[in-house]
Amino acid sequence: MPELPEVETVRRGLEPVFSGARIDSVDARRPDLRFPLPANFAERLVGARIGALGRRGKYLTADLSTGETLIMHLGMSGRFTVSGGGKARQPGDFHFAGSTDPAHDHVTMEVTGARGSGLVVYNDPRRFGFMDLVVTSSLDRCAHFKGMGPEPLGDSFSPGALRAALGGRRTPLKSALLDQSVVAGLGNIYVCEALWRAGLSPRRQAGRISAASAARLHAAIRDVLDEAIEAGGSSLRDFAGSDGALGYFQHRFSVYDREGAPCPRCSAPVRRFVQSGRSTFACGKCQK
Ligand code: ZN
Repeated sequence: MPELPEVETVRRGLEPVFSGARIDSVDARRPDLRFPLPANFAERLVGARIGALGRRGKYLTADLSTGETLIMHLGMSGRFTVSGGGKARQPGDFHFAGSTDPAHDHVTMEVTGARGSGLVVYNDPRRFGFMDLVVTSSLDRCAHFKGMGPEPLGDSFSPGALRAALGGRRTPLKSALLDQSVVAGLGNIYVCEALWRAGLSPRRQAGRISAASAARLHAAIRDVLDEAIEAGGSSLRDFAGSDGALGYFQHRFSVYDREGAPCPRCSAPVRRFVQSGRSTFACGKCQK
């Protein structure tokens, strides 16, 4: 599933075509993705001008001149392709390869902006993604964002805030960090990587970490996300339409999906075990 860095990479890739553009036409080729599309979906979009293209956690937000915001979530396998003014390109670059079978092109939008016209296609074979329209003035209170924790790269995410959010939780640290009310946008990959970088065991009880551990974890979360966004940005620039770009991040992982490989810090084998039904990858020696 795309996590915060991948979604941010997609946002940066879509921004030049979306930001300031007018939506000329929308073709919703089925009534639903993971959830039904909002009523009169195309009618509410056509003619609108897109202001800022933002991101909240793993959600993209397009601020519209109509007073509504288009919320887009990529689910497991959603991706956007932008064409017009040259060859097609896919902003974003994922560990898990996706399909580009046109049978899975579910929503297309023609937009016209400063750079001319472009066609944006949303393709999603597994259809776990979704789109919604929400009144912009109540965006923070909508069902998607209500109760969502701070942005990990934002000012309100501090070591103290992280420790406070974990306080009283008896769950393992790994599970607590996947809870979007603790911090927004983290998924299995970057939680495993951040815990490894902080030298903390995924099995630690979340509510019992020290201030020093919280500070290490806070720094590790920011570092792994920053580095992944930077890698995504370079993949965006280098993307030349080849399918070889998929899987780019894989070799950058220290522990994720590296069961049995040597830990980059201490050379002990990376272990895989299951927590809350999901695979955790960690070093049993240097993560305490
Ligand atoms: Zn190690």
